[in-house]
Amino acid sequence: MSFESLGLRAELLRAVADKGYSEPTPIQIQAIPLILEGKDVLGGAQTGTGKTAGFTLPLLQRLISTAKAVKKGRRPIRALVLTPTRELAAQVHESVRTYGRHLSLKSTVIFGGVSINPQKQILIRGVDILVATPGRLLDHVNQRSVDLSNIDILVLDEADRMLDMGFIRDIRKVLALVPKDRQTLLFSATFSDSIKKLANDLLRSPTLVEVARQNTATETVEQVVHPVDKKRKRELLSFLIGSNDWKQILVFSRTKHGADRLAKQLNADGITSSAIHGNKSQGARTRALADFKAGEVRVLVATDIAARGIDIDQLPHVVNFDLPNTAEDYVHRIGRTGRAGNEGEAMSLVCVDELGLLKDIERLIKREIPNVVIDGFKPDPSIKAEPIFKGRGKQQGSRKSGGKKKTSARNSNNGNKRPASKGNSSKQGQSKKQTQRSPRRSPQGNC
Ligand code: AMP
Repeated sequence: MSFESLGLRAELLRAVADKGYSEPTPIQIQAIPLILEGKDVLGGAQTGTGKTAGFTLPLLQRLISTAKAVKKGRRPIRALVLTPTRELAAQVHESVRTYGRHLSLKSTVIFGGVSINPQKQILIRGVDILVATPGRLLDHVNQRSVDLSNIDILVLDEADRMLDMGFIRDIRKVLALVPKDRQTLLFSATFSDSIKKLANDLLRSPTLVEVARQNTATETVEQVVHPVDKKRKRELLSFLIGSNDWKQILVFSRTKHGADRLAKQLNADGITSSAIHGNKSQGARTRALADFKAGEVRVLVATDIAARGIDIDQLPHVVNFDLPNTAEDYVHRIGRTGRAGNEGEAMSLVCVDELGLLKDIERLIKREIPNVVIDGFKPDPSIKAEPIFKGRGKQQGSRKSGGKKKTSARNSNNGNKRPASKGNSSKQGQSKKQTQRSPRRSPQGNC
């Protein structure tokens, strides 16, 4: 299947060729012709499937085909893309600019955490496409710098996350302001009852296009669990990064405080790291992401919300320093790697307290994740599980890493006698670890 056969115009095909895409992804093959026809689409696709181009390319084509000459005054906003986070908004807007580079459409992005006035200046000049997070969009509506009465196409990207983040009221307020006679596209990685209800209210006879459902999204990602005591997680992480010479690693932390602490500790270990989370200013988040993308910072430690939508081509390693509280977040997290057919590796450092969370994840993805104990990091079986403490509170000290742990990790026998669990072969770098698969669900020490 080629991009040409999807019915896209020459300017868009040129932009796609400039990007180096040779063929459309499955979501693009399904969604592009439908959107070009003007249909409402309910898209079951998570980040990494190529969904952004899947809605942006036909959206641009529809806008350019129906563009009217603007006689006087500013051009009306005709397409609105709502996203849950600032990072995703910025990335979607980047896609709009990239794919629309040979067209004469204007676009901008608005999100909170930065001054509103420069955004107003751009809006006053008029844009065809507006990418926005819901809160800042409503601020602009209230200050009359945005008029939504000419919207022809409304896109809700990562709608499940918007609901998780409590944006439902804001979304409903926006819906009251856009014309009823419009085309609506809703993308979501998961289809909870609340998403189905929202889709029902929003879409008119939508066509469902679905790829890489939440329980199959993980095919290009090699997943592994490394059992370890909680107090040795940081030490193990430093060891894995150092011994495998990983260059670009996205690490997930359950809490903002934990993310900051971990980044600090990794820096102290000589591994350049930054943390991004909701308490950081937009400037600091953008800088951290840019440094990470440019390879100036080796590790980016992120909370779930801050990492949402981070789009880095071929991100090879994702580490779950803590397992997320919900199994769906695990799928979102590992979706950061293995994108658009590239292979990726997702490791989870799991302590005994987290075995229940792990079970939930395996139930959701419908498979057991291979369990690999790293030599020298075998959990202490005498330590009992404790309830997971969500939020801030007691912290356990972690030892500094040093040369000793590497030596012991390489030379010691971890004592597990059971054979490897099936289905996961060691990848590059793993051979260095001299690992052994552990039996499933044996008590593995306290977190
Ligand atoms: P998305 O799911 O929209 O976040 O896209 C994930 C990644 O896939 C982005 O880095 C895109 O640049 C890339 N991508 C989108 N479409 C294609 C394609 N047809 N071929 C190769 N890469 C693509």
